[in-house]
Amino acid sequence: MSTFSAPKGTYDLLPPDSAAFLAVREALAAPLRRAGYGYAETPGFEHTALFARGVGESTDIVTKEMYTLTTKGGTSLALRPEGTASVLRAALQANLHRAGGLPVKLWYSGTYYRYERPQAGRYRHFSQVGAEAIGAEDPALDAELIILAADAHRSLGLTGVRLLLNTLGDRACRPAYRAALQEFLRGLELDEETRTRIEVNPLRVLDDKRESVRRQLEGVPLLRDHLCEACKEYHERVRELLTAAGVAFTDDDRLVRGLDYYTRTTFEFVHDGLGAQSAVGGGGRYDGLSELIGGPPLPSVGWALGVDRTLLALRAEGLAPAAPAATDVYAVPLGEEARRVLFAVVTGLRRAGVAADFAFGGRGVKAAMRAANRSGARYALVAGDRDLAEGVVQLKDLASGEQRAVALDAVERELSGLLT
Ligand code: ATP
Ligand code: MG
Repeated sequence: MSTFSAPKGTYDLLPPDSAAFLAVREALAAPLRRAGYGYAETPGFEHTALFARGVGESTDIVTKEMYTLTTKGGTSLALRPEGTASVLRAALQANLHRAGGLPVKLWYSGTYYRYERPQAGRYRHFSQVGAEAIGAEDPALDAELIILAADAHRSLGLTGVRLLLNTLGDRACRPAYRAALQEFLRGLELDEETRTRIEVNPLRVLDDKRESVRRQLEGVPLLRDHLCEACKEYHERVRELLTAAGVAFTDDDRLVRGLDYYTRTTFEFVHDGLGAQSAVGGGGRYDGLSELIGGPPLPSVGWALGVDRTLLALRAEGLAPAAPAATDVYAVPLGEEARRVLFAVVTGLRRAGVAADFAFGGRGVKAAMRAANRSGARYALVAGDRDLAEGVVQLKDLASGEQRAVALDAVERELSGLLT
């Protein structure tokens, strides 16, 4: 009996489901690896101030969702709620932006922590695959990242992911829009918290999901009508490149990532089979972030895809990600001498690249054969004293039940051939 259970809002990944999870994470990362993104790994916690600044003091993440702690030495640390601030911090700290050409392209994968109200698709500990392209302003880079995410979805067989696309303007055109938006919002009937938001972060009011707020947003000024020529041009290039790559998108004027350092391209991938937690990923350009955390100007773009929700989306579409069989060959020894011999065979098979397992624990042959079938292996290797005396083992096809003797010294070659 277990005395403990995992904390609320967390989950354990265990076989057999963990294989699908791993396959999703691999599939989300594979296109990045092929596109020149190098792997980055950062600590599970950072100085709280990095997220306060790098995610934004006024965001839900920082005001409500962050797990913070004070060390015995008095340092305030926070479990990472997202990856961008950490990865940019790491790149700056290592001077990657000075070491070679720009952009610095990085991908990462890990678990993130947010104190949220747990529900289907929303956890306090969850997993993302992310990518950041640091230090270049080029519509092709924005398009590249979006295409790579769309390709990852396609490689998994997902057909129900929709891409929502918007632009947030830049330092030239956003301030005037922000002022116009604030003026409009101040005239609405809103609660105290939302009123504060108008002053700190008015764009985020556009993202309010409540019907009482949405109703009043009819006629709200849209950034579309305030964009400067450079931003319009940039966004048009991104749209053209996506279209040329066959990536469909919907223009969504209200899509925001309401922080001042988010600029221009903004996007979200949504799936309609997930109920309220419909976002399977999102990202955008964040030209001001580097300076905000003490670095030089480094216009950048990135995204994060939720591994958990992508798996839920697959299940909603009735798909199962192709996970390679954990075991191809299962060895069942009958007797002590056979245990020794087959254990050596299994070791040899593994070294030759064949996924092999062994009936441990000295169980009877029936239990061992059941374990062989349960393992998903295609072949069983069975041997007793009589086989060994003849220098053979029995190779059994577990699907057909057919069995034949194979010379001991030919087993590895035989199986390698059968399994390729
Ligand atoms: P949401 O609007 O659903 O709260 P978000 O805007 O907070 O999402 P991001 O910070 O952009 O999400 O994170 C990128 C992706 O990570 C999301 O699209 C989602 O797939 C996933 N994600 C975010 N928060 C959680 C969570 N608490 N549990 C599981 N997945 C999450
Ligand atoms: Mg959230």
